[in-house]
Amino acid sequence: MKVIKGVKLIDGTGGEPINDAIIVINADRIEAIGTTSNISIPHNAKIINASGMSLLPGLIDCHDHLAYFGYDIAGRWGLDERRSTRYMRIASVLDQTLVSGYTTVRDAGGLDAGFRDAIDQKLISGPRLQVSLSIISPTGGVGEETSISGYENPNFPDPSVPSGVANGVEGMRKKVREMVHAGADVIKFATTGGASSKAGLGPKDMVIGLDEINALVDEAHHLGKRVMCHALGGPGLKHAIEAGVDSIEHGAYLDEDPDLLEIMLQKDIFFTPTFSVYTFHEKFGTPHGKERALDMKEHHIRSVQMALEAGVKVVAGTDAGGWIHGNNAQEITCLTNAGMSPSQAIMAATKNAAECIGLGKEIGTIEAGKKADLILVEGNPIDDVSILEKGASVKFVMKDGQIYLDSIS
Ligand SMILES: [Zn+2]
Repeated sequence: MKVIKGVKLIDGTGGEPINDAIIVINADRIEAIGTTSNISIPHNAKIINASGMSLLPGLIDCHDHLAYFGYDIAGRWGLDERRSTRYMRIASVLDQTLVSGYTTVRDAGGLDAGFRDAIDQKLISGPRLQVSLSIISPTGGVGEETSISGYENPNFPDPSVPSGVANGVEGMRKKVREMVHAGADVIKFATTGGASSKAGLGPKDMVIGLDEINALVDEAHHLGKRVMCHALGGPGLKHAIEAGVDSIEHGAYLDEDPDLLEIMLQKDIFFTPTFSVYTFHEKFGTPHGKERALDMKEHHIRSVQMALEAGVKVVAGTDAGGWIHGNNAQEITCLTNAGMSPSQAIMAATKNAAECIGLGKEIGTIEAGKKADLILVEGNPIDDVSILEKGASVKFVMKDGQIYLDSIS
């Protein structure tokens, strides 16, 4: 038994914080929550006195690329170092991400399922992971690992991270099965280009057939997997939403087709805008990447505001891997810059994020019966969410009831 006491409880539900709260943890779960007036502290419990600190649910990033390092091909394809060094680098990033307050991360492509298993087996420390392995798209789409000069990633074929390229209805069904067989928790695919995609493949260009989208979504759901779809605008965005994907990643031009928000609401489709990545492309992207990021900026903010107004759930995802790891909370700040209240932005990285990845019953809020994924923060993030960035104010991290960072006792 462990007891955390004296904290300001921000439970992730968006409700008023509770002062001087006490949380009782039994093994990997939260057993009880209350205050000194209604909770008796078990006599054999380890007491963590955290007076003056804020207690939040472990944070969740719905869109990261933990195995990516840079946008240049050498960094992205892992050509600039030995494979073992790369794996150790990924393990280090996983630990860094966990101690910055992120207890769960959904990887949107690149990370093989062995890292999830190694964490679950406690060989290394890191967030609870959901992996998608590779981004599925037809030949010519963003999932293709072919350089502009026509060379393929020499690290392929890698049976742990199968190529994402698939064509035709049967090809899509087969590829989904292949990903699930290789350990994917979630299916990631792309219907459009993006900011970083090659010149000529823009954010509103569709690179997949309607029949292929329907087959992929149908097969994934048939196998009990959720589907996350990279789609920025135009027909690729519309068809993905109509096909009933579970989350729209990026969605920068949703504002141009507001009727889609109604469908998202009806079908319970989440929206992961990933502002963080565009703050990078805007400043440091390729010439066409910068142009695209600047063009979408106002649309993107408007899309989020319209989504919130419509009641669509907006969740936090950084799309990191191109520029930095360990600052997943940058997205929480970005969401407040786009008009969310601090409390809404925290929900976007806790309760709503947990629902987005299908773990709403287990994590995302501090409630009795849920997994004990908890972080202690110096200061009050409701006053200033940016204190969460880089884990600067995070002094204690617990995942599944186990302590991974404790710089308070
Ligand atoms: Zn991504």
